[in-house]
Amino acid sequence: MGGPAPPDNSWKGKLNVPYSIGPGFTENYSTRKVKMNIHSNSKITRIYNVIGTLRGAVEPDRYVILGGHRDSWVFGGIDPQSGAAVVHEIVRSYGKLKREGWRPRRTMIFASWDAEEFGLLGSTEWAEENSKILLERGVAYINADSSVEGNYTLRIDCTPLMYRLVYSLTKELRSPDEGFEDKSLYESWKEKNPSTEFNGLPKINKLGSGNDFEVFFHRLGIPSGRARYTKNWKTDRYSSYPVYHSVYETYEIVENFYDPTFKNHLVVAQVRGGILFELADSIVLPLDCQDYAKVLQKYVSSIYELAQKYPEELQEYNVSFDPLFSAVKNFTETSTNFSKRVQDLDTNNPISVRIINDQLMFLERSFIDPLGLPGSPFYRHIIFAPSSHNKYAGEAFPGIYDALFDIENKKNPSKAWAEVKKQISVAAFTVQAAAGSLKEVA
Ligand SMILES: [Zn+2]
Repeated sequence: MGGPAPPDNSWKGKLNVPYSIGPGFTENYSTRKVKMNIHSNSKITRIYNVIGTLRGAVEPDRYVILGGHRDSWVFGGIDPQSGAAVVHEIVRSYGKLKREGWRPRRTMIFASWDAEEFGLLGSTEWAEENSKILLERGVAYINADSSVEGNYTLRIDCTPLMYRLVYSLTKELRSPDEGFEDKSLYESWKEKNPSTEFNGLPKINKLGSGNDFEVFFHRLGIPSGRARYTKNWKTDRYSSYPVYHSVYETYEIVENFYDPTFKNHLVVAQVRGGILFELADSIVLPLDCQDYAKVLQKYVSSIYELAQKYPEELQEYNVSFDPLFSAVKNFTETSTNFSKRVQDLDTNNPISVRIINDQLMFLERSFIDPLGLPGSPFYRHIIFAPSSHNKYAGEAFPGIYDALFDIENKKNPSKAWAEVKKQISVAAFTVQAAAGSLKEVA
């Protein structure tokens, strides 16, 4: 591992260039040209997804999916095997329960994806092949790539529908962190990474992409989430972790440095497996539409603020966010009423339960626009998309955001502002339609 370079020149290579160890560049190298010879194989080869199914006892036609990839760039000690090992342990745990006679209420599907590193191929092919079934029956998808990218605290990226579930579950789990021996995972997570948007809560990130949940969430609109142990992003600002995708990602680096007692792996397994359990076995789906309303309020305020950088253009081109604010307000009221109906639900009436559960399951689907986002036909979620500037990160109201991006430098401002107006309309229509899906059915 790392450490300072030796004081002699033994670490320097034989190229005719000045070798330096930073920090940063002391002179401008932008005029330099480098010629690289790359030797790689190009061939058509077979990939394999491994799918396991645990049939649900009561609602076998409702699927909760846990999936993660198995292929790696080199040895894959962290990415993906620290995650794939956790999937194996979760499968083993549910296998043990099944041998004792237990079955989940809904069907659990376990997936080991191939060719994730090659362009999310395994998961995307499987979801395309099964898209009609998944659209009708997919309750949720939990992604299980690397369990660790650091050893500081928990990291969750998920749909707002799962916020409440994640918070209540992490309150039940013990923190693995030093100094938090008698505290919950929720408490150590909240102290180490508090939300700046929602006071008093641990931070949860938007779903970006660069991983196998992409097709489930962004294309099909299936509620999705992911969990892992992460670093302290306030002090370690580099993206990912230093050995990411390199030959140095070995089992030894995990065992000696990242997680010597595997306590963080254990708690990640408990979070992923616990979310899966609650989604598959609760009578009423543990998805909360009121948290969706809260984030929509935040996001609509943020995108409105962003547009205020251009007060004259907003006037000149008659751009108004009122329809979107109005749709979010309607969504908020409808979700409040819906949650009251959930509280009063007669859980002994299977038809009433199924009606409510279907409304919850299909809510994420109602944010899908079949036409897709501009220039990205496979990114169809109107509230979230992988950022156009960093695919790993998520963006809120991506259609409006991208239309506003760099708009002062657009050659044809009237066309550019017409696109902003169009994207506000699409967002307003979609949020309004989603609110409609939560109303009392008749
Ligand atoms: Zn990976």
